[in-house]
Amino acid sequence: MNALQLGWVGLGNMGNPMVLNLLKAGFEVTVFNRTKDKEGPLLTAGATAATSLHQLIETADVVVTMLSNDTAVKEVFEGPTGLLAAAIPGKIIINMSTVAPETSRYLHTLCQLHQVHFIDAPVSGSVKPAQDGTLVILVGASSEDYETAQPLFDALGKIAIHVGAPGVASSAKLAINYLLGLNLQGIAETVLFAEKNGVSKQDMLNIINQGACGNGISNIKTPAILNDSFPAAFALKHLVKDLRLAKEAGLDSPLIHPLYDSYAAAEQEGLGDQDVMAIISSLQLK
Ligand code: NAP
Repeated sequence: MNALQLGWVGLGNMGNPMVLNLLKAGFEVTVFNRTKDKEGPLLTAGATAATSLHQLIETADVVVTMLSNDTAVKEVFEGPTGLLAAAIPGKIIINMSTVAPETSRYLHTLCQLHQVHFIDAPVSGSVKPAQDGTLVILVGASSEDYETAQPLFDALGKIAIHVGAPGVASSAKLAINYLLGLNLQGIAETVLFAEKNGVSKQDMLNIINQGACGNGISNIKTPAILNDSFPAAFALKHLVKDLRLAKEAGLDSPLIHPLYDSYAAAEQEGLGDQDVMAIISSLQLK
């Protein structure tokens, strides 16, 4: 059994498999999710349920949040029912959701006011790496907090890269998701262009994956493109959020604006809850 008592808020596509890995690694984990029925499978796997955020932070040394967006994370931290209202000095809160660097710095300041340690630790990698415990964890924290959280990172990822203070990891996360957006848009446009000129999707994806342009993400998304089926591993609406945050954080490169517009249009067309690779369905119509 691992000595750190953990609390976890947010059992969506990512939170669920991440908690399972912590349980497998021997941590005691107390969970809290807004929609209660998502807690069921984890309780069966050995987690305990908290009835409130206050109860969660009272029982845990370290609380992790893995929530949709900045608004959700702020709601869980702040206010009379939020984590900080019941936080005892010395606790650690780790936010692993993707949020604005500005939000991470704000949460850090708020935590300091409560003498709570704050770690900004967004992840690169989707549901499969979350299940396999092979996420790439980007860490913004003091060196001391980074070391304290290392056993938890070991259970969740293949590497935890300490990039600087809170806020810096969120910036790194927005940068890598910009590249993700470019990659998926590029694959979608390439496959559709080839198909219009008589090259099957199967052949074009084979050419991509067998050649120097193939990469981890092109391989992962190939079955979804071939089956024309996009159940969310990483919901398209979350990439729209990340590209918007990147723009707001100062990204003003030639491709960010049309890239954001393309994914935002796909969300407007009703594809927000589909996997991000559903961008190809949106482009197919154009
Ligand atoms: P998700 O499946 O949409 O789950 C979102 C979670 O946030 C759910 O537990 C949801 O609760 C909770 N939530 C949303 N609004 C809330 C609020 N106002 N108060 C309390 N809880 C709230 O998202 P996900 O795919 O797990 O992603 C989580 C975070 O990780 C996001 O920031 C995303 O950008 C990032 N991320 C995702 C991936 C990926 O591949 N999926 C990869 C890397 C990073 P309910 O169950 O009640 O709705």
